[in-house]
Amino acid sequence: MDTQRNTWSAKLLRTFTAFLPVDKSRRGACGSCGLCCALPNRCPFLRYRIDGASYCGIYHFRPLNCRKYPRCPSEHITQPECGFTFEETKPPAGAPRP
Ligand code: SF4
Repeated sequence: MDTQRNTWSAKLLRTFTAFLPVDKSRRGACGSCGLCCALPNRCPFLRYRIDGASYCGIYHFRPLNCRKYPRCPSEHITQPECGFTFEETKPPAGAPRP
């Protein structure tokens, strides 16, 4: 996990942009690791099953930023543990064109 980007300002940004759509390049599925439920501190509704998998104690009422995490590559700070990835859809700025 990228601990340097695990800040309250990052959480605020995720919260205020949660109404935006999930990036179309997102692939994979949640692996129930629970890391995103502790950004930047552990959520009081985070629960763990006996097998270690996490789940949300208020799943049907969870906020949008939790429902959509990771919404876009820039907010995806729980790599490589997270089950989601983003396909690179365009070359990085300044990259030479083929
Ligand atoms: S970090 Fe990714 S895999 Fe882990 S609980 Fe959050 S969405 Fe699921």
